[in-house]
Amino acid sequence: MSEPFAIDLGRVAELLPRYAIDGPRYTSYPTAPVWKETYGARDFRADLAHGEVESSDGLSLYVHIPFCESLCHFCACNKEITRDHGRADAYLDTIEREIDAVRSAVRVPRAATQVHWGGGTPTWLDPRQVERLFRALTEAFPVRDDAEISIEVDPRVTTKEHVDALAECGFNRISMGVQDFDLRVQEAIHRLQPADDTAQLVEWSRDAGFDSVNFDLIYGLPYQSVESFGRTLDQLFAIGPDRIALYSYAHVTWLAKQQRGFERKDLPDAATKLEIMLTAIRRFLAEGYLFIGLDHFAREDDELARALADRTLRRNFMGHTTQAGVDLIGFGPSAISELRRSYAQSYRDVPAWSEAVAEHGVATMRGHHLTRADLERRWIINRIMCHGELRAGEFAEAFGHALASEYAAELTALDGAVRDGLIERDADGSLRVLPTGRLFVRNVAMAFDAYLPDQQRGDKPMFSKTV
Ligand code: SF4
Repeated sequence: MSEPFAIDLGRVAELLPRYAIDGPRYTSYPTAPVWKETYGARDFRADLAHGEVESSDGLSLYVHIPFCESLCHFCACNKEITRDHGRADAYLDTIEREIDAVRSAVRVPRAATQVHWGGGTPTWLDPRQVERLFRALTEAFPVRDDAEISIEVDPRVTTKEHVDALAECGFNRISMGVQDFDLRVQEAIHRLQPADDTAQLVEWSRDAGFDSVNFDLIYGLPYQSVESFGRTLDQLFAIGPDRIALYSYAHVTWLAKQQRGFERKDLPDAATKLEIMLTAIRRFLAEGYLFIGLDHFAREDDELARALADRTLRRNFMGHTTQAGVDLIGFGPSAISELRRSYAQSYRDVPAWSEAVAEHGVATMRGHHLTRADLERRWIINRIMCHGELRAGEFAEAFGHALASEYAAELTALDGAVRDGLIERDADGSLRVLPTGRLFVRNVAMAFDAYLPDQQRGDKPMFSKTV
């Protein structure tokens, strides 16, 4: 499996100035900036009531807990920094009300096949509060025995009591923010987290019976070098997580103002950042992890690796997933729902979200009804992002017309990518992303995004760099 990253570094360095542009990550299509506030609570309720499903179909549930004890300076997540844990019960009262309202609106009840809690810091809640929220969620939406139930935790605030309470609830996957084990980097990003504490949390999780442990890493942070990140990887392999997500640091100061405190001179330059990434990828492959896509790596026996092999891998707001075509319903501030033919997002701030839940039961801030063209383009972008290929025969079977004629302009726009050795393309429009192109897969997908040209004309920054 090392072949897919037999990449010519010199060639990548040449291509980088042209391809490292602002672009979406395509956890949705159309992307969130396209959604409109004219889509509101009434639309969301109507869409939740859609009947295009069977009661035996799967269902994904996402719960957002926005609170964190302290601010990590790289972070662009939707969160609120507070040590006032007295607010937790009021938060839980509101989210329970939202869960009830959504449950009443869903016409075809289904058991959950996937549950994910993210944040913020879900373990900002204490173990008793975790159990309370889990009970409320699963009383409304029972969970199948084989469901994937995962949570993001911060090792700095997660105790053994938390881990035991999570295991008791039924959580079976745990994801830990690590970022980097180097002390100087940790000081710069305002996140002191000794490797021993992370290792201890992994041990507790394995003892409690969790099936899978994921680590999140970030490259491109202040003071990182190839050597320093190499030492972080040595420590990571000694602990041995089952999955790894390797994210590029996104310098998005319009979203995360505290990033302005990072001195440009302390951030690795583009060439160093690229070398850190490629070195890390090669080491993951050498250690037996498979490249799942974009920024995800997993052991060969992991279900994501199997989904990649049998081409059932999909992408949604929770990252890569094996849950193809199921509705995803999100709870909590900023949470996103992805239904059969629509997207909906809740208000981002806790007060606005709470007020909307009190008034309407659901807190929809904006959304989008998918047109037929959106559905086609979403299918195409998903295939490129998850499988690194597009098959004209499959497209014709799914949508009843020919890829090459319907998307002639988009395919022509990829002439440069063909010349640059990023993709190869057949006369019928089928295309395959080549090894070097895997680093630029967002650029390839962007050719099929009908909304992007308008967004690029605006002067408001919206997306992080593609590479
Ligand atoms: S990285 Fe995690 S813990 Fe840190 S501020 Fe962001 S959401 Fe909170």
